[in-house]
Amino acid sequence: MDFEFDDTARAVIDAATAFLDGEIAPHAAQYREHMVPKERMHALLRSLAPFGFFGTLIPEEAGGSGLDFTTSIRLYEELFRVFPALAGTAFVNQMVGYGLHMDGTDEQKRRYLPGLLTGERIGCQAATEPEAGSNPKDIRMRAAAERGGFRLKGRKVWISNGSIADFCIALVRTDDGQTNRMIIDRDGYSARELETLGQRGWSTAELLFDDTWVSEGNRMTGAGAGAQQTLRDFTVARCFAATMAVGTARAALDAAVDYARSRHQWGKPIGQHQLIQEMVADMATELDCARLLTYRAAWMVQGGRRADTQASMAKYYASEAALRIASKAVQIHGALGLSRDLPVESYFRDARMISIPDGTTQLQQLIIARNLLGMAAFTDAGAGRAQPAGRAA
Ligand SMILES: Cc1cc2nc3c(=O)[nH]c(=O)nc-3n(C[C@H](O)[C@H](O)[C@H](O)COP(=O)(O)OP(=O)(O)OC[C@H]3O[C@@H](n4cnc5c(N)ncnc54)[C@H](O)[C@@H]3O)c2cc1C
Repeated sequence: MDFEFDDTARAVIDAATAFLDGEIAPHAAQYREHMVPKERMHALLRSLAPFGFFGTLIPEEAGGSGLDFTTSIRLYEELFRVFPALAGTAFVNQMVGYGLHMDGTDEQKRRYLPGLLTGERIGCQAATEPEAGSNPKDIRMRAAAERGGFRLKGRKVWISNGSIADFCIALVRTDDGQTNRMIIDRDGYSARELETLGQRGWSTAELLFDDTWVSEGNRMTGAGAGAQQTLRDFTVARCFAATMAVGTARAALDAAVDYARSRHQWGKPIGQHQLIQEMVADMATELDCARLLTYRAAWMVQGGRRADTQASMAKYYASEAALRIASKAVQIHGALGLSRDLPVESYFRDARMISIPDGTTQLQQLIIARNLLGMAAFTDAGAGRAQPAGRAA
């Protein structure tokens, strides 16, 4: 395995990083506590498009970015480091675009994909319901057949981008008891923003579908396989979630290193005290472990290999490591680390968010162990085939 990006990828990463640090970072601070308004978000997303932030895993002839997945994951590390709310919204757009590319009809792709790839449109994906979290196969939202389409009734919760999205891909249950994915435009549901501990600039919402009618043309391909498609997409989503953790931890480590160099106690920089050095060393080592696991998972995805174990390892380790790293960054800052005057406390709150969505830490552990043992600790029709965990290392 090559640990270097080639010259082309390096140039893309360097150009994007310079743009993010110079043009995007100055806007981030005001959205640590408050949601980025929809119009502002559209403008920010549009500014990212030329750098290849959209259309990962979509062929160039279909509008894709032309970047390989590992480079894309590396770009998102920088974006999450600089502006988590914008990065989160863009990441969900990526997943919506990927879902459309994989399972959309030609008409759906024509209608929804181009806007996603330019930042003109925002999408969201809604599987989770009040009674169906870790197991999306339990969803209840009804799609009753009616007049050449479906009448939708149900509630989706904790939906990223939910209140600012222009459309939603929802996982629903049709009359035959099967799960299907359907695309619903924004006027087909109401949205209520949900307040969360961290990542406060990024919309997380409850969506209410109250007898919404959609045509048969809104159903995505793969009738009856909606839950399987959702689970399949998790491998890609977990690579992004892992890079979210890496980017958040990077911000925390960078801040801690700067502070440890400049803050003096006992007549010298605190960075010269051995116990501070121990914390910095642990933070840097854990960050690199998280990053390497993330790159490996992305590299396997881009090579078309089965990577569910590796994506779960990356998401599990990176999200838990980000929390430890951000907590140490707070510690290194002393009382200032707890203050709202600095962003450090927000890195800690943001990091705490990451071990829940896209499969909780416990679910990642269960997937890793299931694939190693060939037996599941949870009911899962997709379980069973043992996969040697270290195969691609
Ligand atoms: C910020 C954020 C953004 C999100 N974005 C989206 C989105 O865009 N779209 C979407 O559809 N959903 C989204 N979600 C929902 C997310 O996918 C769920 O919250 C997650 O799957 C967990 O479901 P739950 O919260 O209902 O917890 P539960 O499933 O009720 O789990 C509660 C606890 O039990 C544990 N647990 C559950 N099952 C097992 C088991 N078999 N063995 C051991 N422990 C178990 C869990 O690990 C957890 O600790 C988001 C959530 C958050 C917090």
